[in-house]
Amino acid sequence: MANKKIPFRRCVGCGEMKEKTELIRVIKTPEDEIIIDSTGKKNGRGAYICNTKECFSKARASKGLEKSLKTAIPAETYDSLEKEITDNATK
Ligand SMILES: [Zn+2]
Repeated sequence: MANKKIPFRRCVGCGEMKEKTELIRVIKTPEDEIIIDSTGKKNGRGAYICNTKECFSKARASKGLEKSLKTAIPAETYDSLEKEITDNATK
């Protein structure tokens, strides 16, 4: 019986550890763009967040994403990220 190991990552919004597959990966590309990595395979410094507006708002307020990615994130980048968070993937 194979014991499948699923990696856990910490959400920068609520701070809870969750299975990586439940979280959205946000990365900073080598071009310093902040994007959602829906494939989970792109290179770059990554941060993880639950697929909920609530965690997104918390991360925005606490600057959790900025701390994890070690970069400043402009308001318009937050706005475009927010549009990609749909709230329904984990329900
Ligand atoms: Zn969360």
